[in-house]
Amino acid sequence: MSPTDPSSAKASGSNFIRNIIDADLAANKFAPRRWSGRPGPAEQHKVSLGDTPKIRTRFPPEPNGYLHFGHAKSICLNFGLARDYGGACHLRFDDTNPEKEEQEYVDSIIDAVKWLGFDWGANLYYASNYFDWMYAFAEYLIESGNAYVDSQSAEEMRASRGTLTEPGKASPYRNRSAAENLDLFRRMKAGEFADGAHVLRARIDMASPNINLRDPAIYRIKRATHHNTGDAWCIYPMYTYAHPIEDALENITHSICTLEFEDQRPFYDWLLERLAEGGLLQRPLPQQIEFARLNLSYVVLSKRKLIQLVEEKHVDGWDDPRLPTLVGARRRGFTAEGFRRFADMIGVAKSDSWIDMSVLEGCMRDHLNETALRRIAVLDPVRLVIDNYPEDQEEMCEAPNHPQQPDWGRREIPFAKELWIEREDFTEHPPKGYFRLFPGNTVRLRYGYVVKCTGCVKDEAGNIKSVHCIYLPDTKSGTPGADSVKVKGNIHWVSAKHAYQAEVRLYDRLFSAEAPGAGGRDFIDDLNPDSKRIIAAQLEPALKEAIPEERFQFERHGYFVADRVDSRPGAPAFNRAVTLKDSWSKAR
Ligand code: ATP
Ligand code: MG
Repeated sequence: MSPTDPSSAKASGSNFIRNIIDADLAANKFAPRRWSGRPGPAEQHKVSLGDTPKIRTRFPPEPNGYLHFGHAKSICLNFGLARDYGGACHLRFDDTNPEKEEQEYVDSIIDAVKWLGFDWGANLYYASNYFDWMYAFAEYLIESGNAYVDSQSAEEMRASRGTLTEPGKASPYRNRSAAENLDLFRRMKAGEFADGAHVLRARIDMASPNINLRDPAIYRIKRATHHNTGDAWCIYPMYTYAHPIEDALENITHSICTLEFEDQRPFYDWLLERLAEGGLLQRPLPQQIEFARLNLSYVVLSKRKLIQLVEEKHVDGWDDPRLPTLVGARRRGFTAEGFRRFADMIGVAKSDSWIDMSVLEGCMRDHLNETALRRIAVLDPVRLVIDNYPEDQEEMCEAPNHPQQPDWGRREIPFAKELWIEREDFTEHPPKGYFRLFPGNTVRLRYGYVVKCTGCVKDEAGNIKSVHCIYLPDTKSGTPGADSVKVKGNIHWVSAKHAYQAEVRLYDRLFSAEAPGAGGRDFIDDLNPDSKRIIAAQLEPALKEAIPEERFQFERHGYFVADRVDSRPGAPAFNRAVTLKDSWSKAR
């Protein structure tokens, strides 16, 4: 499939971004190019598009937090486009802000993108490696009359910026000569001035209806140690200045970002045009395209709020399975394929909308249904004693590993006189339509025998200690007599003697409100108090050998994963990923 073949876009459904790319490729917009213009620093960064016109996208996280579900949308979009069009997608750490960035976040982001199934090849970059370029470009802007050093205070600058309806006022320093500006800027870099004493501003238009074009700041003095460049710099570029340059230096063709950057696009274009005019960048220049961010109900996707949840210990760390972080989702048992399907399903649009959490859960459920081995688990155990089954007898019952995948084989489950069954599968006083165990009723023990309930034994407080029954010896599943007795109920069980007792965490949504914090409430008040419940469950013995991250359907309960952090060899703990059905929509 050639990259210009429009059918190449069909793989993940068409959308407005693919239409733009198709048109650009049809117009052969991306001829091969190399850098020219003024020589850059020795370790200058070069990316060549090669000989074929292909697209280049990038995923540019700031390493100041863990990636969340919103980032997954952006990752799937950017890497997905590169994959479908035979282009490349760069992983670029947008680390121009020295204060909040940490190696821990860099590592976690690398892990998360890999986990989602994407590969950047050799295209891993750090914006901070372009500081020399950004500085050289700023000097050029000064020389060409496109930037000046402003010595107003922050308050003065804010006061003279104007409003949406009123133009801004020119700074008294706006008409400094290029020579004076260059001298001041070099001394800013040399550390001669205190933080905040001066800023470098682009010289555009103080009367522009777009406030972002009213001489935005592009460099500030900030004495802070940077995780990559250490103390080499005491001036740092502003994000809005750095980002277009990063894109251009990496030959990005389509710089895809969320809608809140729409008003920044004129500055993005202005800056790159000036640099191209001066011969510092070659055309064609990258183009910024905005799409609607992911808004998901029942979670918060703001880094600030996620940090608060972690720091105030409302959750157990960044990888808490209830958090909408990718590390959390992974521990929860969500799958990378589920996220990719979700991204394809919701598509990309140009206006904001909300996606219900059940859509994401549905994608996970569908994928887990296809891929998870079936196992038996009793989550709320009560003992079932088969009074007519010999004390020392044991036998094996057979169950398929997956009902739709006969190739995945079958497994043996031990059967004995005493079993664990779910407490709710027995009642003394059955309501109408209850077909499970009650005195006098017969049910099938799934993959085993038909049993007839004879009653129960209670303690002094009236709690049921054990349920009693007799079994019908000729009714074992898979034998000729299996269907000789018709029953309406079918319950699951594990042999008490053979069961593996494990810690199982029943996770539910972290927030009980659809839009946490809406209407001026504190979002913390919307936390769901029942989002985590830890139980001691009785599991079929095969589950003892589960390896971390192995996922299962616990029949009748939902999808579970062997926890990748707390499991020990031969002693896995399990987390619930999703229930079998969408219990939230039913409740509403
Ligand atoms: P910050 O407020 O700190 O900038 P951020 O969520 O934008 O937070 P970045 O690290 O800048 O974090 O994000 C990296 C990329 O992920 C950006 O290109 C951003 O547009 C994209 N992104 C972030 N949140 C979402 C979201 N909810 N939906 C889609 N894309 C998102
Ligand atoms: Mg951002």
